[in-house]
Amino acid sequence: MDRVVIVGAGLYGLIAAKTYLQVTGAYEDGDEAGTADEASDLTAIPSCFTEDATPSMKGSQNRLLVIDSASDIGGTWAEERLYPNLLSQNSYGLYEFSDLPLTDVVPEDESDTGDTRSQFIAGWKIRRYLRAWVAKWKLDRHIRLKWTVESVCRLENKEWKLSISLPTTPARHITVICDKLILATGLTSVPNLPEIPGSLGTTDHATPVIHAKDVGGWAREYLGYQPLEPPTVDIHAPRGEVDYPQLRSVAIYGGAKSSFDLVHFFATLHRNDPKLHLKSKQNNPVQVHWIIRDQGAGVAWMVPPTSTLPNGETVPSDKAASTRLLTYLTPCCYMIPKRLSRKGVWGLRWEGSWLIRLLHGNPFGRWWVRWFWRSVDRSLEESAQYGADAKMELLRPANSVVSCASGIGIANQGDLWEAIRLPHVAVHRSTITKIVASEEQAATDSSKRAVVHLADHTCVEPVDLVIHATGYKPIVPIQFEPASLRLELGLSALVTSDNQNTSDNIHKATESPEKIQGLLKPSIKDRLMHLEDIDQRSEVTVRQTLQATGCTPMNRGSASWTRSNKLIPYRLFRRMIAPELVAQGDRSFATLGVILSSTIAVIAEVQALWVAAFLTGGLDTQATDPCGALSLETISLDSMDHAVSEDAVLGSMTGSGLEVDAIQYNDMLLRDLGLNPNRLGGGTYQELTGVYGPSAYKGIVDEWKELQTSRSQQ
Ligand SMILES: Cc1cc2nc3c(=O)[nH]c(=O)nc-3n(C[C@H](O)[C@H](O)[C@H](O)COP(=O)(O)OP(=O)(O)OC[C@H]3O[C@@H](n4cnc5c(N)ncnc54)[C@H](O)[C@@H]3O)c2cc1C
Repeated sequence: MDRVVIVGAGLYGLIAAKTYLQVTGAYEDGDEAGTADEASDLTAIPSCFTEDATPSMKGSQNRLLVIDSASDIGGTWAEERLYPNLLSQNSYGLYEFSDLPLTDVVPEDESDTGDTRSQFIAGWKIRRYLRAWVAKWKLDRHIRLKWTVESVCRLENKEWKLSISLPTTPARHITVICDKLILATGLTSVPNLPEIPGSLGTTDHATPVIHAKDVGGWAREYLGYQPLEPPTVDIHAPRGEVDYPQLRSVAIYGGAKSSFDLVHFFATLHRNDPKLHLKSKQNNPVQVHWIIRDQGAGVAWMVPPTSTLPNGETVPSDKAASTRLLTYLTPCCYMIPKRLSRKGVWGLRWEGSWLIRLLHGNPFGRWWVRWFWRSVDRSLEESAQYGADAKMELLRPANSVVSCASGIGIANQGDLWEAIRLPHVAVHRSTITKIVASEEQAATDSSKRAVVHLADHTCVEPVDLVIHATGYKPIVPIQFEPASLRLELGLSALVTSDNQNTSDNIHKATESPEKIQGLLKPSIKDRLMHLEDIDQRSEVTVRQTLQATGCTPMNRGSASWTRSNKLIPYRLFRRMIAPELVAQGDRSFATLGVILSSTIAVIAEVQALWVAAFLTGGLDTQATDPCGALSLETISLDSMDHAVSEDAVLGSMTGSGLEVDAIQYNDMLLRDLGLNPNRLGGGTYQELTGVYGPSAYKGIVDEWKELQTSRSQQ
């Protein structure tokens, strides 16, 4: 087995590790046990990954390493990232791996019956589940925590070299060498902090300003949050030594789902709900100032926690969204027939399946689809009651729920709207211009309270805490050497817009983890220009398609964090591999998780199998496969570039560019592998209305291995 390094021990890194070991037969060989020495020291570099590894060491047993900078596995769900009311938007059965139901590890709490929150999985439950799953697959011995990959470069012999920092005092740096590299660093590793004078990063640190990513740590310190165990103390009893502060007011900045959660949390904090796992107790309501920009993506739609399926069954809303039928009802669905196309020399045909043609391929179908989505908008408006008063009106989303430009979340905190309507919640639609320290002492520590200034000249009263619920930069937080390697790997980057190719300081290109400054090599610049050309042509096709079905793409503008820089989007074939490397026959690099969807876990296993197949050469030899499986040996760079371009252009016109429809995407990957994408085992009705959760993909690794065996015997 080659030496493989996976960066990131979140959902994607973990499933990638298990799947790779499974595909390469490591579990059958007993290899997952590792050598005794290496298994016992989880801080050491296995000898085969060292710079001076000899050929015999390179063949030693522990040849897969998962590296993570956090002190816990789980990424988003790691212990340090949990916060008190973190509820996933997924109900039981939709956030797990197919081989281990979540209920086997953390049973549904029967005492919660009737509470909508109990249908959605609490963050601490996912963390506990991932721990149990890692133990099941004996992955611990492969994982190295608190190792931060600072930089990556490619050696002349095509090995990958990773420079890693360890949190020792003094700081220690080590080097890891491997043959194959998988990046699974997630889309929520780099907080997006607005550049506001006085805000985090630009402050004199006198004001209490944090990002949503750090709410868990803050709650631990100031509210006695203890996520993994049920509260062991009676919160109504005197607190003993720790004196937790009484909060007076907080400001929350942002309009996406995480801001709704935070508003709900602080607005109801005085209820001292034991399910929040807090040791502290608030005596009075906390004044909440919710500040949402008046431009930008606006406020997210929040759909009710439950929805009704066509068969009349009421299910959690994430399950209703995980059906093929919903995909087909979306006018931005790209599979839809938009035109007559030529078939052969004489023939003309309508593109798309009969159902797609029925819904989108004629005026009556399109009218019905529009009516359907308008009625969805109306029912969401009714449940939120935006028209009830001036405050609620400020929360009305600007576009239809199906416009693709709106963020969507599930109102899974049962009394979300009631909490927002409480008199101690104020909503402001403006931009924060400045945060300054107030003379008043904050409740939380010796720092000052903060005064928040808005563009509409409002000056919010002094608050104990400002939280930026402003999302994340979807960037790989690693430096690449040379800087242009990031682009060769198909990864997203910010490039300074004054990047001219005429100067002689080409070699001065440097980068921070997100930005390439200076000049790019001519070959890279040429390639970028070539790709932009392809994009222009793709845009024409995509616009024609969308126009024909009545889907009007929104002009989203550039993301706030790109500022004056140019954002080069991810250019990954199938969202995982770098076209240029593939065209050179290189099968040593892949990424996972560069995907946004309401059901991330539904995709993870399929991506992991696809990547394992790719890295082991399994996608190279299927040219004659009758099921239309992919053969990377025969696909040209041009074909890959066109496919990537269409994906990137459609994405940027209908979303942030990272969204996928989980079921359609999985269909494509399974077809590539030569496996059956229709997995619900029933007729058309079952396929259309049945719920596609992770369990639908149970057994795909074995199916793939059997297919490989039968191919090799032919
Ligand atoms: C608050 C919140 C709620 C969410 N709720 C849902 C939900 O309900 N449903 C859903 O489907 N999705 C949800 N998501 C999205 C969620 O991120 C994904 O479901 C999933 O956890 C992503 O897994 P990942 O492995 O790709 O990334 P992550 O979980 O982010 O893991 C990436 C890992 O890479 C590590 N890493 C990054 N850079 C380096 C480096 N340089 N060196 C070493 N290690 C590094 C990080 O420490 C991290 O552990 C939510 C996200 C957030 C932030």
